[in-house]
Amino acid sequence: MAKLNELNIDKSWTLFLDRDGVINHQIINDYVKEVHEIKIIDGVPQAVQQFTQLFGRIVIVTNQQGIGKGLMTEDDLHHLNGFMVNLIETYDGKIDKIYFAPQLATSGSEYRKPGIGMGLHAKKDFPEIDFEKSVMIGDSEGDIEFGTKLGMKTIMLKNNRNLTTNAHYIFENLWAVAKHLSKQ
Ligand SMILES: [Mg+2]
Repeated sequence: MAKLNELNIDKSWTLFLDRDGVINHQIINDYVKEVHEIKIIDGVPQAVQQFTQLFGRIVIVTNQQGIGKGLMTEDDLHHLNGFMVNLIETYDGKIDKIYFAPQLATSGSEYRKPGIGMGLHAKKDFPEIDFEKSVMIGDSEGDIEFGTKLGMKTIMLKNNRNLTTNAHYIFENLWAVAKHLSKQ
């Protein structure tokens, strides 16, 4: 496959982002439930600002089984996501829509990644989405499987880990992707 910055990404492309471990730091063995628990990863607002210039649309697809477990409500999640979107907007970045899967991992729900439900939902809302001209960025193999099933280009973020992955590309974090794409 061509290098990421040789794919000729333009406004006809869509960027799919996972949230935890991509936008904000993951909390080990717990969920980000309140605004004071959100720690945005360094360089993320700046990276999203660049992606906003490049891609036609940016959507977030996030598994949030903390809701299914009753540890947080959908209102809590909307509050958190609102905080994140506002921060990104102060850096002139734009998130077009956030999709979340509240189902438990044990539910076997196709809506939850690695199921493709959130991708299909996005395609229904934005019919111009072409999965062949879409990039999925995540930090777990479930994200990569989601993107692969839909025919997207996939990027795994390492976050200082040693890992093996089926993703097309591996980068350290979102800012490293943005830096690479600025040279296309
Ligand atoms: Mg994640």
